[in-house]
Amino acid sequence: MGQPLPPGPAPLRCCSEEIVKGLIRQGDRSQQVADVQARLRGLGLQVDDEPGSFGDSTRHAVRTFQQGRGILADGIVGPNTWSELVEASWRLGDRSLYLKHPPFRGDDVALLQKRLNALGFDSGREDGIFGDDTTLAVRAFQKEYGVAEDAIWGPRSQTALAGLRVDRPGTAAQLREELRRAGSPDLHRALVVLDPGHGGDDPGSRGTTGLLEADVSWDLAVRLAERLAGMGARVRFTRTEAECPDASERARRANEVAGDLFVSLHLNAHGEPTAEGSSTYYFHTSAAGRALAEAIQEELVAFGVRDCRSHARSYTVLRETRMPAVLVEPVFISNPDEAKRLEEPEFRAFLADALAGGVSRYYASGAVG
Ligand SMILES: [Zn+2]
Repeated sequence: MGQPLPPGPAPLRCCSEEIVKGLIRQGDRSQQVADVQARLRGLGLQVDDEPGSFGDSTRHAVRTFQQGRGILADGIVGPNTWSELVEASWRLGDRSLYLKHPPFRGDDVALLQKRLNALGFDSGREDGIFGDDTTLAVRAFQKEYGVAEDAIWGPRSQTALAGLRVDRPGTAAQLREELRRAGSPDLHRALVVLDPGHGGDDPGSRGTTGLLEADVSWDLAVRLAERLAGMGARVRFTRTEAECPDASERARRANEVAGDLFVSLHLNAHGEPTAEGSSTYYFHTSAAGRALAEAIQEELVAFGVRDCRSHARSYTVLRETRMPAVLVEPVFISNPDEAKRLEEPEFRAFLADALAGGVSRYYASGAVG
């Protein structure tokens, strides 16, 4: 997003219904295949097959594209993949955008929403659909920057925006929107669901000192619960100490109590004993989940743990929960030094402080946004 695309064939501009009637797949030879290949190349993907011939290279490019869009990566172009290809081909400034029915859809709309949100014009969810919120945001932008207020995103608005350089990700508007949907905007009224990893018959990973992931994640959850309660939040667990519900059941329990926030606690493990540090995970379409993951990550790093960053993952507990959700692996239980430190109650207390600090910071950022 936002990066110039390499030169290639001009993106095709047809509606999906005209082009794709059935499935386009490996072994096909047709003009449709050539159209798909042109779009993939226009998006910067490498396609080495001869034009119009759907070979291994085209299939690989289709899969890469599908993975990047979060759709089923089967390497076959059906109606869904085709409409994603069409939406992905639009670059901001290619066409004028305004409210119409059916609405404009595309990556140009999504980028416009992202930029307007970053500037403080609330265009709502960055869903790539030009609707009422985006129309209001465009009008507000035009008013602010002295462009005729016609609510049409055309060359004048585009020029005004181009002079501003706003590529900051993570927008206050997006976060506010998700917080509104997520329930309580304040930690002292929130219901936080804690999910201690593993448990029961499943000990999780075993540390070099014999420490078990299930026991540590339980201990961290209890400590974190105390801190959150001290901040006024209500807390529920997804399991008792002796049981190990599967991931879907954990998500179901969190949904059932209508939690405002979900924090799953695990420890990382790797065959390479020197691997160390903290990672946090969120579901890729959840801006609030990402903000929470990054806030917790920052606190853990500030506390001195090596930064292994926040990552988008489609873990079941993140995907099936309906509230902003994160999975945290504060250290590696497979690292001898970190495992030894985990034996110390003071260290676990520090980790719990950092986790609570991250939750608190997340709410503070949403409130002031
Ligand atoms: Zn685990």
